[in-house]
Amino acid sequence: MKIILLGPPGAGKGTIAKVLTGYDGSVQISTGDILRAAVAEGTELGKQAEAVMKAGDLVSDDLIMGIMEQRLKQDDCKVGYLLDGFPRTIPQAEALKLLLGKMGEKLDCALELDIPTDVIIDRLATRRTCTQCGAIYNVKSKPPKVEGICDVCGGDIVQRDDETEEAVLNRLQVYSEQTAPLIGFYRDEGLLLTVQGSDGNQVLEALKTRLK
Ligand code: ADP
Ligand code: ZN
Repeated sequence: MKIILLGPPGAGKGTIAKVLTGYDGSVQISTGDILRAAVAEGTELGKQAEAVMKAGDLVSDDLIMGIMEQRLKQDDCKVGYLLDGFPRTIPQAEALKLLLGKMGEKLDCALELDIPTDVIIDRLATRRTCTQCGAIYNVKSKPPKVEGICDVCGGDIVQRDDETEEAVLNRLQVYSEQTAPLIGFYRDEGLLLTVQGSDGNQVLEALKTRLK
């Protein structure tokens, strides 16, 4: 499958991506994870992205397209991929369309996760992330066995800088202004599939029906 995951921050794109990659072996490509890794390593890219990300704003389209062009040409993408957090703007969606055209590839579907805003805000404010492996916890619904320590790798679990209330509200606004228009873009392309909620198996079933 070659799929784009669309939906507001906190819609559960990462979780859904894991279910879908488990189904057919396609790779999950998260621009957020790539950028956070670059920040952690202190690379040139990381230095450029750090302050922008902390505020919950978007990194420039040029920077993102550079990353994605390289990434999509890697061998593991041949099986299929799920793009998580990309494209985020209409210019990125247009650049992706051109890039895939050049590569002779076609998307199967743009999957929109439709989740009420109040659910999103609550979910993001209670979310915690492992600094080492990226595993996601929730202080209410999925706490780690030992407070502050990752069950998977023993790393430290923290609240992301961009998951403070102020940054969350900004990210939601950035989403509605810059990313929500992609829903119309992919509807016009005939690729949109909207699913309510974020239950992984339900999403997988909807997708299988659609791609039959
Ligand atoms: P979310 O949890 O909001 O889906 P991500 O983990 O996808 O967040 O991304 C975290 C941050 O990385 C974003 O707030 C933004 O600053 C930056 N980022 C990730 N993907 C993109 C992109 N495609 N275009 C611009 N900025 C991006
Ligand atoms: Zn971990």
